[in-house]
Formats: sequence, C-alpha cells, structure tokens
Amino acid sequence: MTDAAAPILVIGAGQAGLSVGYHLVRRGLRPGTDVVIVDRGPGPGGAWQHRWESLRLGDAHRIADLPGMEATGLTFASAPTEPPASEVVRDYYGTYESHYGLRVRRPVEVTAVRRSADGAFDVQTADAGAGFSPRVVIAAVGTWGSPRLPDVPGREDFRGRQIVTPEFTSPADFAGLSVAVVGGGASALGFIRELADTARSVHWHTRRPVRFNARDTDLREELGRESVRLQDAAARAGRELPSIVSTTGMPLTPRLRRLRDRGLLDRRPMFARVVSDGVVLADGTFEPLDAIIWAIGFHADLGPLAPLGVDARRGVTVADGHAVDVPGLFLAGYGPQASTISANRGARRIARDVERYLDDAEWPPPRRRARA
Ligand SMILES: Cc1cc2nc3c(=O)[nH]c(=O)nc-3n(C[C@H](O)[C@H](O)[C@H](O)COP(=O)(O)OP(=O)(O)OC[C@H]3O[C@@H](n4cnc5c(N)ncnc54)[C@H](O)[C@@H]3O)c2cc1C
Repeated sequence: MTDAAAPILVIGAGQAGLSVGYHLVRRGLRPGTDVVIVDRGPGPGGAWQHRWESLRLGDAHRIADLPGMEATGLTFASAPTEPPASEVVRDYYGTYESHYGLRVRRPVEVTAVRRSADGAFDVQTADAGAGFSPRVVIAAVGTWGSPRLPDVPGREDFRGRQIVTPEFTSPADFAGLSVAVVGGGASALGFIRELADTARSVHWHTRRPVRFNARDTDLREELGRESVRLQDAAARAGRELPSIVSTTGMPLTPRLRRLRDRGLLDRRPMFARVVSDGVVLADGTFEPLDAIIWAIGFHADLGPLAPLGVDARRGVTVADGHAVDVPGLFLAGYGPQASTISANRGARRIARDVERYLDDAEWPPPRRRARA
C-alpha cells in the first residue's frame, strides 16, 4: 500500500496531531502504512516553530508533555527557559517523532478535502498529483494560520504599520514607535512586555476589561474546567468558539505585575475608528500612532475543509473530537481539546473512535459519560 492509500490521514503535526499519532500507533496501526501524518511546516514543532525569536517557555508559556513523552527522556517541566521556545519545542517534538517512528511527511500542505464517490475522502495538496484518498481525515491544524482580522472602520486608511500576531518577529521592528496593541490574551500582553523598553509608547486597547487572577492553582483549575465546559458546549451546538481568556482571565505573573506597576497595563476601551495617522476613541479623542498590532485571537485553520461544508467562522458541530455532520472527519485540538492537557486526553478518544469508524462499529460513537 502506498502512503496515498493509507486509510487514515492526520493533517498537522503539532501537539494535537502528534498525540493522535501516538495513540493510533499504540493501538497497533503502522505509521506510513495505516496512518500518514503530514505537515506544511518545514520542521517539527507545530505552530511553535513559527513563533517569534524572543518568546521563551516559563512564566506565562507552559506546555504539557505529549503522551508517552517520558520514554524520550524529555519533559517540558524541566525544559530550558533561556533558548527561544521555538527551538526548544522543535527539538522536543522532533525527538518524540523519531522515538515513536511517526514518520511525519513535510512540507505537505493540504489545500482541499472533498468526499469522493466511494465514501472516502479526496485530499488535494499544494503539490498537484500528490493527493491522498483516506477513509478517515483527522484535522489537527491548529489556529496559527488563521488569525482573526479586526472589524474596525478605517483600517485601510492607516499609513503606519499594521500586523497580526503571526507577523510579529522582533520588538526591534517597533523601536522608537508609538504602538497600539489590541487584544486581551497572552499574545497581546506578551507584546506589551516585549515593547516596553523599545517602543516610544505602548497603548493597550481591548473590547472588554481583562480580569487578572492571582496565581492560585485551585482557581486556575476551576476556571480552566469552566472554559473547557463552555468550549465543549459551543462545539456541540455548532457555534463559534468563545474566547478562552474571557473565561479564564489572565494569571498575574510577576512580570505582568511589574508591567502594571510601571503603568503599562493601563487598558483603554476599543477605539471607534482608525484614521491615517492614529485612532479615534469613542469619546472623540485622537491617539497618534505609528503602528498597530492586532492580537485579537484566532479561528481554527479549517479552510481546506470548506468543500465539506465546514467553516470555523460560522461554527462546526463537533462532539468528542468528531465532526457530527461529516462521518469520518475528526477535529483534534479543537474547542475543548485546545489546551495541551485536554488535547492529549482527547487524542486517546479520537484514536479509539477512528478504529471504531473503520471497523464499521456503532456510529456515531456513544457519548462520553458525564463526570460526576
Ligand atoms: C503566542 C501564543 C502562545 C501560546 N502559548 C501557549 C502555552 O504556553 N501553552 C499552551 O498550552 N498553549 C499555548 N498556546 C496555544 C498553542 O498554540 C497550542 O497549545 C498549540 O500550539 C496547539 O497545538 P495544535 O497541535 O492544536 O496546533 P499547532 O501547534 O498550530 O499545529 C498545527 C499544525 O498543523 C499544520 N497545518 C495546518 N494546516 C495545514 C494544512 N492545510 N496542511 C498541512 N499542515 C497544516 C501546521 O503547519 C502546524 O504544524 C499559545 C498560542 C499562541 C498564539
């Protein structure tokens, strides 16, 4: 059997795709023969390989271990915090792929997934003539390729620099500039921190006030569970996924506390419109700017699934990792599986249900029992 005819195709080799790959292999499926994992990135690391050079693990950025990672001798619990996170994750995930023989094929970009006449999928790639025809597609595509774009009038009139999160490469690009950072999540706060000593001024705008929490483990776990519950409810109802940080708030780390003490976390409400050389606030005040960084979140990067009627912007009905309206399609790392810990748990369930689907067993799979 060639790769192209393997019954299972996993799109994406970030934490979600690798976790699913691990669990499939553990169930006896053979990498490259029964299951093929493809990724459009040049190397291991999922989205982390593309993150800006100054981003480090530790403090706000923590990654849970992949399942079975202890056998590689590595753990993120003691990962170095001096090198760029992009390098650390690339090395750890690369070691993991080799250890479990996952044989990720890259760079392979999936461009479209259709249903073929025999009920399998017809998967096209950017390399015409190198498609796949699996019975099961597991989209573990993450969000990095699909940043949300702002719906603010006048954006096209701005003559300064405008970027979205994945375009940020270095604080040096903003040296001496007046910069607005828009967004209330970890990326926005990270940018404020990075720009604090290089930009001329940093202005922080969000639609809603941001809640900062003490670094209380019990509270974080409780809010994390509530966030997973809300994500799951939205996914099962086919609604657009809610913002995670609006439920969990942001942990007030020592670094953020220092920023706050310097007056850099003086959040302002979202501006009413953008003009050529700045923004106009709701009360009519003009704020001159040289640059705007839009860090307002992401959608799941599901563009290639559009021929199947799947659109993350409108919402997709997903229960326990399978697309309810598209038999044979699984979404790993989506909604309630988005955190590193729940991605690993969700991957085990997906691997089991994939086998069930291929065996023509009971479908859709029975619902997970609610935890007492
Ligand atoms: C700035 C930032 C910081 C973050 N920090 C943390 C953190 O500290 N801890 C944490 O747990 N989470 C963090 N997150 C969330 C983090 O992105 C996820 O935890 C993790 O990367 C998601 O893994 P994933 O496998 O779902 O997606 P990804 O890591 O994005 O992997 C998806 C893979 O799919 C591939 N792919 C996508 N589309 C295609 C296609 N059409 N064809 C082929 N390949 C494709 C991509 O190349 C990519 O390698 C952060 C997010 C951001 C934006």
